[in-house]
Amino acid sequence: MKCKEILDILSDYVDGELADEQCHRIQEHLKGCPGCLEFVETFRRSLEIAHDLDEKHPSEDVCLSVLQAFRKSCEQKDS
Ligand SMILES: [Zn+2]
Repeated sequence: MKCKEILDILSDYVDGELADEQCHRIQEHLKGCPGCLEFVETFRRSLEIAHDLDEKHPSEDVCLSVLQAFRKSCEQKDS
């Protein structure tokens, strides 16, 4: 699994909406990829902060900006 593939399904992973098999594949990737592991932690924390700020409407913008930042860092790594 590549970092970019993780990215595509990460928000579902954090939400616990993925099938077991996909979760397992992500976890296997995270074991060998500190960058993604750190990102998942950052992503989770951002969601928690967003959730705290506005309990009824966790901000989609926050999710998107975190994802975009990570996508950028992946692209830099690949090139
Ligand atoms: Zn990775």
